[in-house]
Amino acid sequence: MDTFWDVVVIGSGLGGLSAALSLSEKGQRVLVLEKGTTPGGCASSFQKNGFVFESGATTLVGLEPGLPLHKLSTDFQIQFPLIPLKRSMVVHLDGKTVERFQNRKEWVTEAKRVFGGGLRMEVFWILCHLISDSLWSLSGRYKFFPFQNFSDIWKSIGAFRLRDLLVLFFSFISLRFVLKCLGLTKNKVWIRFLEEQLLITSQTTSTKIPMSFASIGLTYPQLQNYVAKGGMVSLSESILQKIETNGGKILYKQEVIHLKKNGFTKTNPKMIWELHTKNREHNLFHAPLVVSNLPIWNLTEITDDLPNLKKKTTKFEKGIWGAFSLGIAIETNPSEEWAKKECLHHQIHLKDVLPYGGGNSIFLSLSHPEDPIRSPKGIRILSISTHIENPESWIRDLSYQEKKKTIESIVIQTLEETFPWFQKDKILFLHSATPVTWRTWTGRKFGRVGGIPNSYFSNPFQMLGNRSEDPNLLLTGDTVYPGQGIPAVVLGGLHVVEQFLARKRG
Ligand SMILES: Cc1cc2nc3c(=O)[nH]c(=O)nc-3n(C[C@H](O)[C@H](O)[C@H](O)COP(=O)(O)OP(=O)(O)OC[C@H]3O[C@@H](n4cnc5c(N)ncnc54)[C@H](O)[C@@H]3O)c2cc1C
Repeated sequence: MDTFWDVVVIGSGLGGLSAALSLSEKGQRVLVLEKGTTPGGCASSFQKNGFVFESGATTLVGLEPGLPLHKLSTDFQIQFPLIPLKRSMVVHLDGKTVERFQNRKEWVTEAKRVFGGGLRMEVFWILCHLISDSLWSLSGRYKFFPFQNFSDIWKSIGAFRLRDLLVLFFSFISLRFVLKCLGLTKNKVWIRFLEEQLLITSQTTSTKIPMSFASIGLTYPQLQNYVAKGGMVSLSESILQKIETNGGKILYKQEVIHLKKNGFTKTNPKMIWELHTKNREHNLFHAPLVVSNLPIWNLTEITDDLPNLKKKTTKFEKGIWGAFSLGIAIETNPSEEWAKKECLHHQIHLKDVLPYGGGNSIFLSLSHPEDPIRSPKGIRILSISTHIENPESWIRDLSYQEKKKTIESIVIQTLEETFPWFQKDKILFLHSATPVTWRTWTGRKFGRVGGIPNSYFSNPFQMLGNRSEDPNLLLTGDTVYPGQGIPAVVLGGLHVVEQFLARKRG
């Protein structure tokens, strides 16, 4: 077993793998150390009873030209096994259904039908689309953002377009302020709709989020949505295949427990990182460059070499979301009309907020009817998730099983009430995961699986960048820029490599 590598990546989430791929394409020998037995972290899949369940993420966007997954697949010639969806999402609230049309005009008509607001509603969505288009374009061009020094600003001058000022302006104004200016705050159902949509895309609320980030989250359904054939894990597997073709490697069951800088002695003037893992056979690795794909609060627990990051981390530790998720395999009749036409993604508002820190809504994703890898014909796999506030309060105590069962039964009852095709007695298999389970699966401290909400930074310039205080330790994943979600962590992973190489070139 080779213990010396050019680069070691800690964790095989999509942020880490994107950086690993980019570095391996540039000729670096890359080793990925993964704690678990499958790649993908929060965007992975697992097998149980012959079915393939999603562990977390189920929706996928970002393949339009210029967007992060498009860049990943075209720059590195990866063919992801994806199925495009005709319908993006349906929201169920107060007995109404709201179709989140992909087509912008159709969506604005639908928003006016359900929430009213007339021309003001139209203006709001035109603004959202304008800002989100500009922000997507800008995020691809400003590779050195958030600026850490004058050189980053200098290198970004050429990327400037006049339209970027629109994003800049709306990065200092909250969504709620824009709604107030447009007189769109009176309809309580509309506000509830917005809050729950923001929660699943941006982890925050309308009073706290800058309009720029809100626009990206709220227009998510107007991008082409996809599902990954065989489950989300197939994204990571496709990336890994390419990394391995380039001479890289992934090792599973390799939890990094200590990371320390070595070197700078007279006999060994070259700095090298030493990584210790919790593995009986091979537990020591070395590399001059480390990419961390861990949440920042996990990373600062395994090293003493990042004192500045540790100080900042404690500031952001409170109020990070956890998740409660369920996987259900259910028998259905494939010949029934609904099975062919049903939208795969649904947000369902609940009558009462879920207990034990749970949210006001649940999110349901169905497996694609034409995906035999996930389940045979006539069986659909459902992935349901909800946010959990203060995930650290979930521990394996005497009430743990009861808490789990309570949430499970509320979810099942809600599904029965919402969908005529959902019948409890047709459930073949059910599995639920609490913040405790998430902690075990992904190692994420306290089961905090939501990234740092954008609201923690009054403007995007304050976000934690992808370069740490040590030039040879790079940061990827959803607790650093640009935050949560698959397109975001991929973008962060790609940009940090460009930043590193630009610095090396001087
Ligand atoms: C329930 C849920 C639903 C979501 N839905 C969506 C969605 O529909 N669409 C979307 O775009 N995003 C969604 N997200 C968000 C998205 O999944 C995440 O933001 C993204 O996948 C995080 O990627 P990451 O690069 O930060 O790494 P992570 O996914 O956190 O992966 C980190 C990896 O590091 C490994 N690891 C941890 N500690 C160590 C260690 N010490 N040594 C070695 N390895 C270690 C873990 O096992 C893991 O594999 C969802 C998240 C959750 C939790």
